[in-house]
Amino acid sequence: MSPGEGAARPRLTVDLRAVVANWRALRRIAAPAEVAAVVKADAYGLGASRVAAALARAGCRTFFVARVGEGVELRARLPRARILVLDGLAAGGAETCAAEDLTPVLNQPFEIGRWAGQARGVGRRLPAALHVDTGMCRLGLSVGEARRQAADLPPEVEPVLVMSHLACAEEPDHPLNGAQLGRLAGLADLLPGVPRSLANSSGIFLGDPYRHELCRPGVALYGVNPTPGRPNPMRPVVRLEAPVLQVHEVDAPGSVGYGATFAARPGMRIATVAVGYADGFPRAAGAWTGLGGAAPVAGRVSMDLTGLDVTGLPPGAVRPGRMVELLAGPDAVDRFAATAGTIGYEILTRLGRRFERVYLDHEDEAAPA
Ligand SMILES: *Cc1c(COP(=O)(O)O)cnc(C)c1O
Repeated sequence: MSPGEGAARPRLTVDLRAVVANWRALRRIAAPAEVAAVVKADAYGLGASRVAAALARAGCRTFFVARVGEGVELRARLPRARILVLDGLAAGGAETCAAEDLTPVLNQPFEIGRWAGQARGVGRRLPAALHVDTGMCRLGLSVGEARRQAADLPPEVEPVLVMSHLACAEEPDHPLNGAQLGRLAGLADLLPGVPRSLANSSGIFLGDPYRHELCRPGVALYGVNPTPGRPNPMRPVVRLEAPVLQVHEVDAPGSVGYGATFAARPGMRIATVAVGYADGFPRAAGAWTGLGGAAPVAGRVSMDLTGLDVTGLPPGAVRPGRMVELLAGPDAVDRFAATAGTIGYEILTRLGRRFERVYLDHEDEAAPA
């Protein structure tokens, strides 16, 4: 018997069909540019191995991870895909990258030197992406460094991509977008013929000039709205449920949870569900309403438990052992994140660990007759 078998656990359902549909939709918008998939941080908590396999089956050829270790894991699953490592070689890993056929994104001059040394060691040219910082001051060669390095690139390093990253892509009117685009355009004569990449999810929606030869969406694949303030063009991907452990029929005035912040009045019904901040259900989500808007969180979210006010639901709809829906449908992740004072990215990446993950996949369905 596996640990916990037979006992319901909080469950994260990941609709891989929706992930694939989202990738296809982005590809239609970005055509003729290639659309890669960013699957760093375990595909934003949803499971990089399953997500990437589904996308590869649909025809996605290029994947981005953050860490070398993530690349090694993905390589085991996708022997033929192109896998790029965003963190580059500053923390080491050149040998592993060469052995596992991972393409590092080189962010600093010394990383280029390191990769050239590795290439000499293995006796063949090795591919790399060059990352230019056009205005985010996070990772990447400065524009001046990029010019100097490109003019003097070691012959062992084969440049396969020149990329940069937008700081404000989800704000279409932000002047930094145009400034970054302009700085990348100013490097047009650098490594002529090498494909360019600038757009993340939101960048794709800034228009054709931002799409270049390759787009790098992450969060939009997972259903988060890449166009905040406008209708979400993506299909929802995740659904979150947790089992009810206990239901209280309140018969005397009292309170719910730590700090006694929620007044329980006679006649109320409070359900305690097995999900808490240790599962990635943030303590700051105390104003959320589960069950499609019918069951507000009652009191503070605990480590492993959360109270829901289920007074408005028919008795019997919520019983110990039943699963209740905490997050589902269009824009749920975005609205939940707003309630908790954060962004969909942070919500997704935190949900991954303690939940049972269930995947909906074409592959698991009976083949159509
Ligand atoms: C995370 C990341 C992306 C993907 O960003 P989304 O906003 O999730 O689409 C693309 N490029 C780089 C460099 C990144 O770090």
